[in-house]
Amino acid sequence: MAVINMEKVNKNLINEVIEAGKLVLGESVVSSIKACYQCGTCTGSCPSGRRTAYRTRKVLRKVLLGLDDVLDTDDIWYCTTCYTCYERCPRDVKITEIIKTLRNIAAKKGNMDLSHRKTASYVLRFGHAVPANKQVVELRGKLGLPAKSPTAQFSEKDLEEVRTLIKELEFDKLIAFDWEKMDLKE
Ligand code: SF4
Ligand code: SF4
Repeated sequence: MAVINMEKVNKNLINEVIEAGKLVLGESVVSSIKACYQCGTCTGSCPSGRRTAYRTRKVLRKVLLGLDDVLDTDDIWYCTTCYTCYERCPRDVKITEIIKTLRNIAAKKGNMDLSHRKTASYVLRFGHAVPANKQVVELRGKLGLPAKSPTAQFSEKDLEEVRTLIKELEFDKLIAFDWEKMDLKE
C-alpha cells in the first residue's frame, strides 16, 4: 500500500471542490462525493479506464484524502463524460459532475489538457466545439436541408456575440487563445 506523505495532504481540498462546483451544479451534487465507499463500480464501468491508466475510483479517493496532485495529473482529462459511472454508482455519487468540477479547478491552475484546449478553441473560431465540415454541408444538401445550418458558424452576428461572451468571461485567457493568429498560443 502506498504511504501518504502527510505534508502533501490538503485537508481543505474537499471543501474547495464543493465550493467550486456548487454555484453551477448545486451543493448536494458535488458533496455527494462524501458518500463514496470505494466499491470500484465506477472504475469497472469506465470505457476510458479500459484503454488508459485512468481509474475513476482512485481520483475520487485522492480528493477525499486531500491529495491535490490529482489536479496536476492527466487522469481527470481522460474522462469522456459518458455518464456510465454516474448511472451505476450504488451510492449515487454524481461522479461525472465531480470530475468536471475538478477540471474547472485544474484549468484555473493552468493545467488544461491540450486536446481540450484545442476543442475549446473551435468555439472561439467557429462558434461550435464540433463545427460542420464540408461533408456535413454536402450531406445536409442531399437531405434537402439548407446547406448551412442557422447557427453561429454561419452567422457573423451570432459568432460575434459568442466571441464577446467568451472575452467577457475571459475564457480566451483560460485556454491561451491568440486572436491575431486565431489559434492557441504556442
Ligand atoms: S461507484 Fe460510487 S461508491 Fe463506488 S467507488 Fe465509484 S463513486 Fe465510489
Ligand atoms: S463518465 Fe468519465 S469516469 Fe465515468 S465512466 Fe464515463 S469516462 Fe469513465
